[in-house]
Amino acid sequence: MSLRFYNTLTQELEEFHPRDGNTVRMYTCGPTVYNFAHIGNFRAFTFEDILRRWLHHHGYQLNHVMNVTDVDDKIIASAAKENKSIEDYTAVYTRAFFEDAAALRLETPEHVVKATEHIPVMVQAIEQLTANDCTYTSEGSTYFQISAFPGYGKLSHNDFRRIRSGARVDVDEYDKEDARDFVLWKAQKDTEPYWESPFGNGRPGWHIECSAMAMEFLGETLDIHAGGVDLIFPHHENEIAQSEAITGKPFSRFWLHSEHLHIESQKMSKSLGNFYTLRDLLEMGYKPEAIRYLLASVPYRKKLNFTFEGLKAAAKSIERLRDFEVRVSSTKLPAGRNEEVSERSREAIREFERSMDDDLNTAESLAAVFDYVRAANTALDEGRFQEENRWDAARVLEVFDCIFDVLKPSDPAATPASDKPTAASLSDTHIEASIEERARAKKARNFARADEIRAMLQEKGILLEDTKEGVRWKRK
Ligand code: AMP
Ligand code: ZN
Repeated sequence: MSLRFYNTLTQELEEFHPRDGNTVRMYTCGPTVYNFAHIGNFRAFTFEDILRRWLHHHGYQLNHVMNVTDVDDKIIASAAKENKSIEDYTAVYTRAFFEDAAALRLETPEHVVKATEHIPVMVQAIEQLTANDCTYTSEGSTYFQISAFPGYGKLSHNDFRRIRSGARVDVDEYDKEDARDFVLWKAQKDTEPYWESPFGNGRPGWHIECSAMAMEFLGETLDIHAGGVDLIFPHHENEIAQSEAITGKPFSRFWLHSEHLHIESQKMSKSLGNFYTLRDLLEMGYKPEAIRYLLASVPYRKKLNFTFEGLKAAAKSIERLRDFEVRVSSTKLPAGRNEEVSERSREAIREFERSMDDDLNTAESLAAVFDYVRAANTALDEGRFQEENRWDAARVLEVFDCIFDVLKPSDPAATPASDKPTAASLSDTHIEASIEERARAKKARNFARADEIRAMLQEKGILLEDTKEGVRWKRK
């Protein structure tokens, strides 16, 4: 069977081949480095890693670009609060992101590009949009006029024809009901960091960042653009509008979107305060490979509910495979090859590949591996497994582990350190951010998380007092 992906743009399963030759040109939206990424974010990045590896398995080369958003409202506000430059502020979280990614065994894209290092291409893109009559300015900022792009809404499948012209928005994220002209270049406010441009001092919006960098590195039409489902609107819709209004060509042939990681039936997110970072889980004693397995085990277009039972089950599944590997390599076996046992392993690989080709159905591909392990264990019990069948088993595990990459135990010395600050490093900003997070957790009725935050602060010598005026805090 051929490789097929569900394309959000056409809403169909489509056969995939790169457009030119053997190289897949792929762009994925990377992290916004204003804080530690949570494991929900890492579900999206793990899906993209599995996608990369499966494309490699098909013999394709990859030219994969991932951006790092290192300037936005949250970053500017947080850096200012800590009295740091945005460069110093984001350096910490950029490093942390790549440490976490390495612990989760995520392959590094061919190009990792920071927004602040590519401002000129964004400026150029805005100039082209202006030349094509798609922009206007208001109070020093430049906006994209969505009525100038007739295809607006084609990715999120919304009919935006009746939108009010001229309604505009300065923030990067907003609701579907609220299709608006969006900001391409934000005028500098007060003492905010800025770049010079023909449209005045300011900084680029988030959406133009991805369009400009994707086309800079990959050309006008990409093979694949991927990200989490929350990026479909407005981010990816806006990327299409900008890119296609510049080139007149399709921006990406395939759009792949991964569903969210949930926790207690809600999306895991910073704003709800219901998240775990990778470091939280490592500190509790869970292994990175178990977390990777859990994130990869549910097909990417299905919601995945995070539970500790699920995480323990993931660790057990890895254990079962490792035990099998040891048993096969250490058991004394009769010489020769049992053809029936060999055929069973070939069937397992065929089934694994068929499932992965079917829009990366990782649940079915795992089932193929575990069915095989069960059958091979029975063959071992019954003395049908012979010396040469070891290679068959090794081949099944190899194909599996090229994609899932969980069999080798992690080196504990190489796992990222805790993100919990020490008493000395706990800044006022961090304390206040934790208090805000606790308030959001309470509002979302996630009392366990709220208590956890209070306990974490207490452990660091910070006492909270709930008063009528709000939460007060003091150092012990
Ligand atoms: P951000 O750093 O907020 O720009 O997000 C990085 C990636 O994480 C994006 O592709 C988001 O769609 C994705 N994401 C955010 N929250 C979740 C979640 N709970 N589950 C899965 N993916 C998520
Ligand atoms: Zn993006």
